[in-house]
Amino acid sequence: MVNRELIARQCICCGGDRLDKSSAVLMPFVAHRVFGHEPVEITEEWGLRDLRRGMAYTLCNSLQCQNCGALFLDYRFTDEQMTALYRNYRDEAYNSERISYEPGYTAVVAHYEQRADYLAEVEAWLAPHLPEAPAVLDWGGDTGINSPFLKRNSLLHIHDISGVDLLQGACRVDVEQIGEQKYDLVACSQVLEHVPSPLELVRRMLPAIGPQTLLYLEVPHEALVRENPGSKGLAPLKRHWHEHVNFYNETALCRMLERLGLQVVDSLHLPVDIGWTRSEVLGVLARRA
Ligand SMILES: [Zn+2]
Repeated sequence: MVNRELIARQCICCGGDRLDKSSAVLMPFVAHRVFGHEPVEITEEWGLRDLRRGMAYTLCNSLQCQNCGALFLDYRFTDEQMTALYRNYRDEAYNSERISYEPGYTAVVAHYEQRADYLAEVEAWLAPHLPEAPAVLDWGGDTGINSPFLKRNSLLHIHDISGVDLLQGACRVDVEQIGEQKYDLVACSQVLEHVPSPLELVRRMLPAIGPQTLLYLEVPHEALVRENPGSKGLAPLKRHWHEHVNFYNETALCRMLERLGLQVVDSLHLPVDIGWTRSEVLGVLARRA
């Protein structure tokens, strides 16, 4: 278990310590699950002479690295807090609790049952770099429903803590097993935006990455980042945080991978229509430097 800070003082990607900081709120659903906080109204009855009346929410800070541009929540959740936040992720109890805070989440729920359409384009982009039927490890791949090359692989291993039933053809592996297999592709999609220490997560994948292995990392290219390319002034524009606690740009991902001895060989910016909203994914393909 890596000892990490509860409040980030360094960039989660490049490790730099020049961080711009601005106040924000942690959205109530996350604050409730992680800290047990509920929004509350401070009223006259509280008898607090020096505080103004009004709604109080869980405060946090938006941090942006002035070196690589990574934008992230200052809180770095502990393993226990992560477990609390993702307990029964997207099951009925989770969904109804979340919808009670965020009525718009209803539209999101329906979408996660099926394979995402944009994956065909990701596969087409990856294919020229890989054998016809690649050996794939999907890190955080859930059931395998969104694993790359689900239908065209020589093997599909999934490392996922959720313990859900896997689709036919997929095989669960633990972290000890991944070093014993030769993979053509290690993929980790739509995971790094959630985790407290992305660098440490990718470090755990290294035993699976041989000299010929390609690593594909995919994250949302968040609208705020996309619409302000290269900006180092994003912290004051990011006023709320949700389950995506890390907003990446391509430079930040490159810097993070360099610290692990990996080198980016190609990148992908793919507009996607994910059912309830138009969005874009950012993918990078890397190998050992
Ligand atoms: Zn940085």
